[in-house]
Amino acid sequence: MADTRPVFFFDIDNCLYPKSRRVHDHMAELIDDYFMRHLNLDRDEAYRLHTEYYTNYGLAIEGLVRHHEIDALEYNREVDDALPLESIIFPDPLLRNMLQDMDKSKVKLWLFTNAYVNHGKRVVRLLGVDDLFEGLTFCDYGQRPLICKPHEEMFQKAMKEAGVTDVKKCYFVDDSAMNCRKAQEIGWTSAHLVEGVDPLPAVPAGNYQIRYLNELRTLFPQFFKSS
Ligand SMILES: [Mg+2]
Repeated sequence: MADTRPVFFFDIDNCLYPKSRRVHDHMAELIDDYFMRHLNLDRDEAYRLHTEYYTNYGLAIEGLVRHHEIDALEYNREVDDALPLESIIFPDPLLRNMLQDMDKSKVKLWLFTNAYVNHGKRVVRLLGVDDLFEGLTFCDYGQRPLICKPHEEMFQKAMKEAGVTDVKKCYFVDDSAMNCRKAQEIGWTSAHLVEGVDPLPAVPAGNYQIRYLNELRTLFPQFFKSS
């Protein structure tokens, strides 16, 4: 029988684990180091360029690939794979509980990240939830041009890999306003995770805004076994 289940796409970084883990800060430092080493910049200039690329493209590496001759897989080894995640990310029973409560006969859980495959898999393994997802769509750093969220092709790639053709069957949670806006624009149902005391965007991004991942239970009770 054909699999007609809707798909719930989950962003990974700063979404499945809280921003307070500061993975992004560790990463930013390694990214700046990388920019300094490979582009011969001082720290301020490295920071400025890294931020500019991140803002313009959604990923620092996309700017590097576009404007400089860099090896994205080497970058991945020196930045993402070099993160000391084992001392930052630990199994999260609450997250596991929520994901386990999702009824897999009604919805397919799929990971959707701008990171490379190594990092994505490493994070969900450390969180202790890797067995609850049916697949992972990641940014392939070995490919040119680099395709990542919020580019529409990246959303299409995720749908293809997850085996869904109808945008109305696509649900999505991400901490990036840019990604949630694009998802909504192409017809997905998106929930923007704006953690804790972080300011809400002036113009709401996506169909819903949530403060905690657990609010997905209330927003989408049709996908949960218990309420
Ligand atoms: Mg994220």
